[in-house]
Amino acid sequence: MVGCSVIYHLTKLGLTDVVLIERSELTSGSTWHAAGGFHTLNADTNMAALQGYTIRLYRELEEITGLSCSLHHVGGITLAESPERLDFLKSARAMHRHMGLDTELITPEEIRKLSPITNTDGVLGALYDPLDGHLDPSGTTHAYARAAQMQGAEIVLRNRVLETNQRADGSWEVVTEKGTIVAEQLVNAAGLWAREVGAMAGVYLPLHPMEHQYFATADIAEVVTRDEELPHVMDPEGESYLRQEGRGLVIGFYEQNCVPWAVDGTRWDFGHELLDENLDRIGDSMEFAFRRYPVLAEAGIKTIINGPFTFAPDGNPLVGPVPGLRNYWSACAVMAGFSQGGGVGLTLAEWMIEGEPSRDVFAMDVARFGDYCTPSYTRLKVRENYQRRFSVSYPNEELPAARPLDTTPAYAIWQGQNAVFGDMYGMEHVKYFAPAGEEPFEIPSFRRSNAFPTVAAEVDAVRTAVGLNEVHNFGKYEFAGPGAAAFLDRIMAGRIPPPGRLALNPMLSPKGRIIGDFTVARVEAERFQVTASYGAQAYHMRWFERHLPATGVALENVSKTRIGFQIAGPNAQELLRRVTTADVSTEAMPFLSVRQIDIGQCRAIVQRVSYTGDRGYEIYVPWQQQVALYDVLTAAGHDLGLRPFGMRAMMSLRLDKSFGSWMREYKPDYTPLETGLERFVAYDKQAEFIGKAAALAERQNGVARKLCTFEVDAGDADAVAWEPIWHRGEVVGYVTSGGYSHYAKKSIAYGFLPLELATEGRAVEIEILGDMVPARLYSRPLFDPDNEYLRG
Ligand SMILES: Cc1cc2nc3c(=O)[nH]c(=O)nc-3n(C[C@H](O)[C@H](O)[C@H](O)COP(=O)(O)OP(=O)(O)OC[C@H]3O[C@@H](n4cnc5c(N)ncnc54)[C@H](O)[C@@H]3O)c2cc1C
Repeated sequence: MVGCSVIYHLTKLGLTDVVLIERSELTSGSTWHAAGGFHTLNADTNMAALQGYTIRLYRELEEITGLSCSLHHVGGITLAESPERLDFLKSARAMHRHMGLDTELITPEEIRKLSPITNTDGVLGALYDPLDGHLDPSGTTHAYARAAQMQGAEIVLRNRVLETNQRADGSWEVVTEKGTIVAEQLVNAAGLWAREVGAMAGVYLPLHPMEHQYFATADIAEVVTRDEELPHVMDPEGESYLRQEGRGLVIGFYEQNCVPWAVDGTRWDFGHELLDENLDRIGDSMEFAFRRYPVLAEAGIKTIINGPFTFAPDGNPLVGPVPGLRNYWSACAVMAGFSQGGGVGLTLAEWMIEGEPSRDVFAMDVARFGDYCTPSYTRLKVRENYQRRFSVSYPNEELPAARPLDTTPAYAIWQGQNAVFGDMYGMEHVKYFAPAGEEPFEIPSFRRSNAFPTVAAEVDAVRTAVGLNEVHNFGKYEFAGPGAAAFLDRIMAGRIPPPGRLALNPMLSPKGRIIGDFTVARVEAERFQVTASYGAQAYHMRWFERHLPATGVALENVSKTRIGFQIAGPNAQELLRRVTTADVSTEAMPFLSVRQIDIGQCRAIVQRVSYTGDRGYEIYVPWQQQVALYDVLTAAGHDLGLRPFGMRAMMSLRLDKSFGSWMREYKPDYTPLETGLERFVAYDKQAEFIGKAAALAERQNGVARKLCTFEVDAGDADAVAWEPIWHRGEVVGYVTSGGYSHYAKKSIAYGFLPLELATEGRAVEIEILGDMVPARLYSRPLFDPDNEYLRG
């Protein structure tokens, strides 16, 4: 199904020299036995939008081809049995408002009206989505295929791809049973065999197949006698989804006792086969379902389907150029093919033909994972994701499977200090330090959590004394050689600093969108340390490598090997002075400077900058010396009030300075002028930097929206992301991120407003968990607004 969507979209966007090679018949992987349900719900708004696109596409396919997808737009209901689930659905509903999706919250009585077979005992409410429905998987796949053929694509059946070998010019030799094809670009859309096909090119794609069961009933009187088709019902408590099929029902389960399939690989002769049914595994879920839908108990089971399909560790697809390979694309791990397949095909086609997708697709970018994803890590995470398919996702939640994986030497020290950990890109980091005697666990919540008072104390230490925090959360790259400065000048939109200085630097795509926000430090004339988000390593390395010249620049990803600490706060300079013989006075080492100096016995790169917005220093050493650095700093900092702090405090401190962050305020959906990053773009620099023409055009033409900062009259829940912003009864924007400023004792949100509304003092309302919360726009940062203290 996904391969057919890819060729449909490639040909639709004008690339007609396209061939799909199929091992057997169309649909002969996961597709043929799918339950065919579709829905728009996804935690990521762009994913949800692409799911909306997919669902609307089916009519287009039917019109083009005259084939039927057997569409049943019956709507869907997601039940809430707990206040937490209701909060979750309320925040989903709020998110849908600015996406133009017409979901609504409904009462138990309304549920019974729409779906009289549902027993609503214990149900508090539900979210209704009119776009939900189901289709015929085989008919739909053939509709994609026929439409693609009508636009010029070729489909070769019963022809297995045996090898994929890259040629010197970057094209691919695709060896098949029926001969060899040379392709400029290659897409792996091999579904259940994506791992095996990836291995032919020497890559591991982090996905794993899981078994999945659903069953269909014989005719049911309550269904037979209805005039209208029943809506879908998702019952998270029972981990099931239910829909009508003919005159009976279909119900499927995401059970806790789930089973990874084909751990050692998918066999090539796996055909149109089903797996052995195993009703014991879903026994508990079935019992629950019989209570929820009493009609099921009397209905006979007609068929049981147990089939495998693939998942990535977070359940979203793996799409885009595969890092480390040229001209090789992934369209794999599409677990909800009939919700996502159209969006996957469109995204990939745009990327291949136009150079970049039309929106941020990081949530399904194959580069959101890195080489820490081994097959066993992936399997553990996939299992966890399958089990959590119907779980409430809290904004402050950390998922436990396969952890810890990567740790720094300081990990053991933090464990001894009762740290609560989170992970990013496989690496553990401290969220905050739980008080002594308390279990180190943050209770998942949509509201302020038990971490609140401790984070307040950590923030206070930074603003009044000095705090210490690890810098391993940065992705770090070293660029060295005679061509390094010129290369960075071309890929970064800002100014490249002189030796000894650093500069904040946006990186833009050709269309002028933000694809990175970096700190570029010129450690020596021909040696740079460049830092950004740790989680974007594969994403950024893919971009660097794509543009790197053949000679003159040596690039190394030093994210894991160069770590250390930042120290920040009014006593940070004194602390640094105590541990080095170098002159670290403001005159010798001003704000935004970089030095190589000895700290204690360690040779360090020290940058005078801090995301806390306080006077601070980032100190980088080889990873083997991290503990020595820690000992030196803590011994010297004791009487200065030194206290370690975690990422929760850091994310609060940044609010005081209105600093944005990667993938919240800065991402490929946004541009420099929209987000205020234009002050770091060197529009007049000589270098023809990537995105320059687009950036200049934007400056000339202006923008329609602006990123703003709001003070929010929040109760016990702060804005997190995607909450709609209302003005005079209309949704006019949305929140990008938010939180609580412990320093200013205010709830803060960042978000977009139309330009004409983005004026000082503008009163708006932000919808937080269903409540309309008053908020006001302000533009002067809450802490050190003119950076006088910072520069001092
Ligand atoms: C029981 C069950 C119920 C499901 N219910 C739903 C649902 O309700 N809604 C929903 O959206 N999704 C559902 N799914 C998931 C859905 O089936 C998948 O998302 C979708 O089928 C993925 O399609 P695909 O094209 O990526 O993979 P596949 O269907 O596996 O297709 C891959 C294709 O690649 C071919 N291939 C592989 N290797 C080679 C090679 N070397 N040479 C040539 N060809 C090759 C294969 O033959 C195959 O045809 C369900 C899945 C299961 C198992």
